[in-house]
Amino acid sequence: MSDGFAVELQEVVKRFGDVTAVDHISLQIRDGEFFSLLGPSGCGKTTTLRLIAGFEMPTSGQILIGGELQGYRPAFQRPVNTVFQHYALFPHMSVYDNVAFGLEMRGVPDKETKSRVHEALELVQLPGMVHRRPDQLSGGQQQRVALARALVNQPKVLLLDEPLGALDLKLRKAMQIELKALQHRVGITFIYVTHDQEEALTMSDRIAVIRRGRVLQMGAPEGIYEHPANRFVADFIGETNFIPGRVAPLGPPVEVALDGGASVLCGWAEEGTTVGAEVTVSIRPERIGLQGVDDGGTGAELARLAGTITQAMYLGTDTRYVIEAAGGATLAVRMQNVGDGVQRHAVGDAVAVMWDPQHARVLID
Ligand code: ATP
Repeated sequence: MSDGFAVELQEVVKRFGDVTAVDHISLQIRDGEFFSLLGPSGCGKTTTLRLIAGFEMPTSGQILIGGELQGYRPAFQRPVNTVFQHYALFPHMSVYDNVAFGLEMRGVPDKETKSRVHEALELVQLPGMVHRRPDQLSGGQQQRVALARALVNQPKVLLLDEPLGALDLKLRKAMQIELKALQHRVGITFIYVTHDQEEALTMSDRIAVIRRGRVLQMGAPEGIYEHPANRFVADFIGETNFIPGRVAPLGPPVEVALDGGASVLCGWAEEGTTVGAEVTVSIRPERIGLQGVDDGGTGAELARLAGTITQAMYLGTDTRYVIEAAGGATLAVRMQNVGDGVQRHAVGDAVAVMWDPQHARVLID
């Protein structure tokens, strides 16, 4: 492979009439990587996947697979396979025949077909069901057959379009773990489309967050969650608090003045932040600490705001508080219930809200 990438997109654009579904997307997906395209409905992730598969052709830009320019090469000549949300199995055919179909069409000898089909069914942990028809299987089992049908072709890259979307929550969670383990075992590059941020965080080596046909941020799950590059990403991935304010000294740390005279410190500011600019401070609920006003301690190195607890919701492992804080901010705070498991604060309590500035980010707009 010439460039070491399984798949590369260079400034790819796809227009459907007036709609720009994919707007100058550039990606480099490594060999063996579990890479997710994540974004809200209509952002262009399925179109991006279909362009890689060869079901659509780009308006402009280039796609390389295994270092080779694809140009107008049709889908069946590309070294990829796609698994869709709706399994698209042949209903009248057995599991065996569904999985064997592609190999038989290509004239692979019977003996080889048989061993490859059994190997693929072992991989997806579905042996012993070769004679059943799809309607005699559960949703999760049908999706395993669809996976086996793709894997049996030994593609270099497997494209998955919301493959777990039709499953109920519990099964989806179990299949997420299984799919990740499977990808690890077979070592094939997976490109995975999902609008479910939790799913993308759980499974991916890297994620591209897409909005309106553009990649807003790309990186490992932890990097995207801990260091969102802008307001959209901070809001889309996990829960976060947004506090409006105005930039005072640029620091570091950056000081942001809130309404009513309070101010907070933040460790990072989005590029282009200027003194006096109207901004939003973003801080995750689990990064905020609470201190009863009578607990003592100054927390001098921390950003602090006075506040009052307006809601306390016990959630088992943790408690979620809502706090009306100085500066007019309403903040969600999550605290683990450790020790005796008793929540430490109650509705009406006056508290100090605090955080380490390195976890607070100044975002423009
Ligand atoms: P979803 O999660 O809802 O499937 P998505 O992020 O996968 O959404 P796409 O299906 O890629 O989004 O669609 C991106 C945009 O392109 C949408 O505005 C969609 O309406 C438009 N679009 C997609 N396919 C076509 C088509 N064949 N003709 C016209 N417009 C299309």
